[in-house]
Amino acid sequence: MEVFIEPIGRLMNEFSKLPGVGQKTAQRYAYRVINMTEGEARAFAEAIVNVKKKVRFCKVCGNFTEEEVCGICKSRDHSVICVVKEPKDVIALEKVREFKGVYHVLHGVIDPMNGVSPNDIRIKELLARVGEGNVKEVIMATNPDVEGEATAMYIARLLKPLGITVTRISRGVPIGSELEYADEVTLARALLERKEI
Ligand SMILES: [Zn+2]
Repeated sequence: MEVFIEPIGRLMNEFSKLPGVGQKTAQRYAYRVINMTEGEARAFAEAIVNVKKKVRFCKVCGNFTEEEVCGICKSRDHSVICVVKEPKDVIALEKVREFKGVYHVLHGVIDPMNGVSPNDIRIKELLARVGEGNVKEVIMATNPDVEGEATAMYIARLLKPLGITVTRISRGVPIGSELEYADEVTLARALLERKEI
């Protein structure tokens, strides 16, 4: 016999699909939903459906946006492109408020052990952007772990023959950590003290 009645078990099963949510947390979330008013529960469910309907990728940088081109791409300096692994890295760097250029979200890093080759991430799109001219510098801000470093070096090798300055954020971000978890002062320094590669 199942411990939980079907509707609760089903909701817990959905919550447990979220990162970091185990059985106990899923149960706590489900019980909280049961205590919501019908209106609250509906708003909660609608927000989930809405995000799937409205959020798409910027056709220039690959970041999340509601429109074809994101607000950053629309309003900022396109001569400097900061290359990151994921949309959440854009959020981390934007919090620093130092960077006035635009981004390029790779949606992954080269990781042969897990079957991710250069063709699986948005490198072609980056080369196309650089190929349009006007780009002076590309800052590689992938995470300072093995895959992030390898991806930065790979892209640098492709860009340098095109006469582009390629830089790497400094080691201010501890090796093996993710940008997302670096504090703003550390990230600002990492960006400011970037070095040509
Ligand atoms: Zn964009």
